[in-house]
Amino acid sequence: MNYVTVNPCKVCQPLGAILAFRGIEGAMTVVHGSQGCSTYMRLHLTHHFAEPIDVASSALNEKDTVYGGAANLKLALKNVIARYKPALVGVTTTCLTETIGDDVNRIVNEFKAEEQVNDVIIIPVSTPSYTGAMIDGFNLAVEATLNVLTEEGEKENCLAIIPAANITPAEIREVKRIMDNFAPFIFFPDYADTLDAPFFEELPLIFPGGTKIEEIKRVGRCKAGIILGVCAGKNLARLLTEKFGVAARQLPLPVGLKATDVFFQTLAEITGRTIPARYQWERRLLLDAMIDAHVITYGKRVAIFGDDADLVLALARLVVELGMVVAICAVGPPNKEFVRQGAAAETILNPVDFDELAQAVRKTRLDLLMGNSKGKFMAKEKNIPLLRFGFPIHDRLGAGRQQIFSYRGAIQMVDLIANTILENEDLFVSIS
Ligand code: SF4
Repeated sequence: MNYVTVNPCKVCQPLGAILAFRGIEGAMTVVHGSQGCSTYMRLHLTHHFAEPIDVASSALNEKDTVYGGAANLKLALKNVIARYKPALVGVTTTCLTETIGDDVNRIVNEFKAEEQVNDVIIIPVSTPSYTGAMIDGFNLAVEATLNVLTEEGEKENCLAIIPAANITPAEIREVKRIMDNFAPFIFFPDYADTLDAPFFEELPLIFPGGTKIEEIKRVGRCKAGIILGVCAGKNLARLLTEKFGVAARQLPLPVGLKATDVFFQTLAEITGRTIPARYQWERRLLLDAMIDAHVITYGKRVAIFGDDADLVLALARLVVELGMVVAICAVGPPNKEFVRQGAAAETILNPVDFDELAQAVRKTRLDLLMGNSKGKFMAKEKNIPLLRFGFPIHDRLGAGRQQIFSYRGAIQMVDLIANTILENEDLFVSIS
């Protein structure tokens, strides 16, 4: 066990909040902290999604750190509203402004009164990065937005779908494709088009797309809600159920056969619709692909890691369905639900940093690594392939287009995993 963290296996909270605000139509984010925090986050997001990411900063310096960052934050808000003309501004805090104790709610209220701002919604969210990780920041920003915007009211025939895990724009599109066959729905936050955007002749300041503010207001009127994720998102399930009377269920990410079955069965149960024949057909296609791949994947040993417990668990369940052995299952930030559910693994590491993970990987016989780009050093040292999933993926193209959800996504995964094993074994044979 390490007594200090060496190369943390997690990404910081405000970055997750930026991702959530990017899923609201017309929204912009101000990071309240030093310039370096927002630069790091912008770069990480830009490299991962291959899209320009604008994030404003209150740019605190040494003096502001001593005397407080109120003046900087007010100036940042004024500039952002004047330049971007957003419908909504998310204000996310950082380690620095949490440590000095800036009262962001008070500063925002003062700003609105001083500048007579009535037509722009401003949502502060507390995201200290010395605790939690990206997914916590994401969930806290979603919770703060629902708290500010969502209204109670008579229930409508509508289903709220809220991800509590790091899912890709392509996966959002896949969930929406499925939902179109079941019931009217509100997907929030929807960053499918803002983080996987088409070519623009003239770059917009704020990318079109995102959940409409009017839709977020109506989330409280949905008769049911699905939170995608079981290791995170308890705060969202509680909020929907207790504050708005929306019957919310938490489901595992629909990755692999069983978890996708659960997703479809839940949709059928909530909506009273039968599962359309096309998805039953896709399920049979997946079964066929799994049978084809079994001879290649059976008994192969894999280490899966990341900072998003739900994604790591989803990948672990999928490879177990392929007859593989999860030798190491590792998640950076502490998560009791992950430890409880990750029982199929030989070794569970949680919490863990990359130093400890690399030591475990060195001692274990493995055929494959699955996780974010930061695992490439372990893969090189071990001379085994790394299949990149999660965040960040900054050394490969197409992270936003990766789609592992539903039977369709699982079929792609089966081919990818089996072909990677074949490729590696061929390489090994030719070298020897
Ligand atoms: S961990 Fe803290 S200091 Fe570092 S980028 Fe994130 S908010 Fe800023």
